[in-house]
Amino acid sequence: MKNIKDYNLDDLKEEMKNIAEKPYRAEQIFKWLYVENVTSFEQMTNLSLELRKKLQENFKIEPFKIIKKQESSDGTKKYLFDVLDSNAIETVLMEYKHGKSICVSTQIGCKMGCKFCASTGINFIRNLSSGEIVEQILAVERDENIKISNVVFMGIGEPLDNYDNVLNAIKIINNPKGINIGARHISISTSGIVPKIYKLADENLQCTLSVSLHATDNEKRSAMMPINKTYNIEELIKACKYYIKKTNKRISFEYALAKDNNDNLEDAKNLVKLLKGMICHVNLIPINKIENGNYVKSTNENIIKFRDYLNEKGIVATIRRELGTDIDAACGQLRRKNLK
Ligand code: SAH
Repeated sequence: MKNIKDYNLDDLKEEMKNIAEKPYRAEQIFKWLYVENVTSFEQMTNLSLELRKKLQENFKIEPFKIIKKQESSDGTKKYLFDVLDSNAIETVLMEYKHGKSICVSTQIGCKMGCKFCASTGINFIRNLSSGEIVEQILAVERDENIKISNVVFMGIGEPLDNYDNVLNAIKIINNPKGINIGARHISISTSGIVPKIYKLADENLQCTLSVSLHATDNEKRSAMMPINKTYNIEELIKACKYYIKKTNKRISFEYALAKDNNDNLEDAKNLVKLLKGMICHVNLIPINKIENGNYVKSTNENIIKFRDYLNEKGIVATIRRELGTDIDAACGQLRRKNLK
């Protein structure tokens, strides 16, 4: 049976036709699911009993179960959700001055194999469906009784390796009749799947693209991120330039600083050369410790020096606040779990 949250509004209208219902029913259902955030068809009280029964026979809703919820001393909350097939994924809720931001997972596990990230290295299981991506937002909103204002695709998984489901989820998140979060409040982060960056550029979306760069020469980047052996830095930067030209939006480059690896002045100089002339922003992430990881966080002094050098040379760089490290909810610390 299909998960009703897997459909964007247009597709749900088509589905209504398939079960001999009027397309406007889709809008009513959308309101129940994404505005009222109900968890069963019985609660959709402006639909006839007959229609509710028909929906029940044709679709499932499947609200996630919370297996565990942890709260960091900085207020960040991490959820472990049962996705109902004996797998579990993590989702993080962060509070900022400008609103509540959710970091969603897109896959159960990850194929990318980045050496510094805990989300990978454990076998890849499967993609999350659009409905499962969207349900992370709904489940957190229900649990906390809040409205989420920003979504970042930075949890477990590589969003561009689950391209169609991620794009479809964005349609639901973005729809004024759906979750209604504007594209400008949505960020997608990629390890650098070049052909998909071109594809995304052509979609005409207003989402922010973040690119996990982390190194400025191919040898170093390949050692950290195996994807670099398939799409190297030159190809990646070319794709980013295309993205900027096509969308007129600045790219955010993520650069996780690891001691004695990619954090010296030489690296900063190379970064300036690489990004010269691009509309971009550099997000410096003090690398977070993971189990069995070889990388150690740079010293604060080096991180600040690195940032200041970039800023001096005209590249806007900020240091990402470390949120949720005490509950393993920070960048690169999320993991899938098997419930069997
Ligand atoms: N797969 C996507 C989405 C993950 S986003 C991507 O690679 O972009 C999470 C961000 O945190 C990425 O920039 C990732 O490279 C970074 N990251 C992973 N492990 C980290 C760690 N241990 N410390 C700091 N940042 C890390």
